[in-house]
Amino acid sequence: GCPGRLLELKGNIRVLCRLRPGTPSSLVCSEPGPGGSVTTCYRGRQHRFHLDWVFPPDASQEEVFRELEPAVLSCLRGYSVCIFTYGQTGTGKTYSMEGPPEDPGIAPRALQSLFREMGTGGQHRVTLSMVEIYNEAVRDLLAPGPPERLAVRQGPAGQGGIQVAGLTYWDVPNLETLHQMLSLGRSNRATAATAMNQHSSRSHAMVTLTLRAAFPPRGPGPAGTLHLVDLAGSERAWKAGAAGTARGDSDGAQRLREARTINRSLLALGGVMAALRARRPHVPFRDSQLTRLLQPALGPGATAVLLLQVGAGGGGGLHARLRPLGGRPPV
Ligand code: ADP
Ligand code: MG
Repeated sequence: GCPGRLLELKGNIRVLCRLRPGTPSSLVCSEPGPGGSVTTCYRGRQHRFHLDWVFPPDASQEEVFRELEPAVLSCLRGYSVCIFTYGQTGTGKTYSMEGPPEDPGIAPRALQSLFREMGTGGQHRVTLSMVEIYNEAVRDLLAPGPPERLAVRQGPAGQGGIQVAGLTYWDVPNLETLHQMLSLGRSNRATAATAMNQHSSRSHAMVTLTLRAAFPPRGPGPAGTLHLVDLAGSERAWKAGAAGTARGDSDGAQRLREARTINRSLLALGGVMAALRARRPHVPFRDSQLTRLLQPALGPGATAVLLLQVGAGGGGGLHARLRPLGGRPPV
């Protein structure tokens, strides 16, 4: 197989980049493929960033999923995998994650691939939960009643986990039921969107699948998890992040002040990714609801894949967004 495939990259954080069709090459140009790069113009100078994989504007949904599929399937062997789509509003996050019905994205392809691999033997129990995080409030998108704000707590001592009080976990017997539940979850999200301006671009949607094997396989544990996260638009977060960096006070009070007015979870995710990539001893999981929820899934041995979306007008700010996420500037 291809040496760059994500199967080989367990226990790691990978940053992939996908360019939206119509992105002017004067703003961002790319060298596609594994170890590819994007070049952006920042303060009158060109900066080239190397990423783990770059998908050019004409990459198909299938090509994108092909690189993710081995990681997705590793969940069946007990691994934990998080896949995020990240970028400014309009750059194609939801297109990549969900896709239109006629050209499905990562989530539907991942589910199909998992169920195909599991076959009909009933050797796995699949459970699903789906939440939305908006302004640091966690809501259950699959609750039988109206979605309520849920409390996120540290689990019992010694067990190390996170508990979301009242969150519903649904047993999913087959792919058809799974698709029905996902569209229910999406419509619950959409209902709130009409009530709150710009809601969907400022909220994170997270689908979590737990795959529990009847016969524990070779691998780290009896249950694998797959988190699929369509993140909020990054347009406000990177500005504050860039300002903080420029002033040299990237941490502490300044950052918290900014986080109050922008999306705290998005900032915190950047901080967690940067700490994990640099293998720092302290990883600031507790800084936001998103990172608290993902803490068990981002531990040692887990795979996180961040698909950085770059869109038509998304040249400006790319520099600031790549820095904390592990894009390496040229020397
Ligand atoms: P976001 O979720 O980041 O705000 P969307 O996924 O809604 O952005 O994409 C914005 C628009 O661009 C949508 O109309 C979407 O269909 C289109 N689009 C995004 N990526 C692609 C792509 N790779 N191919 C074709 N259309 C795309
Ligand atoms: Mg979207």
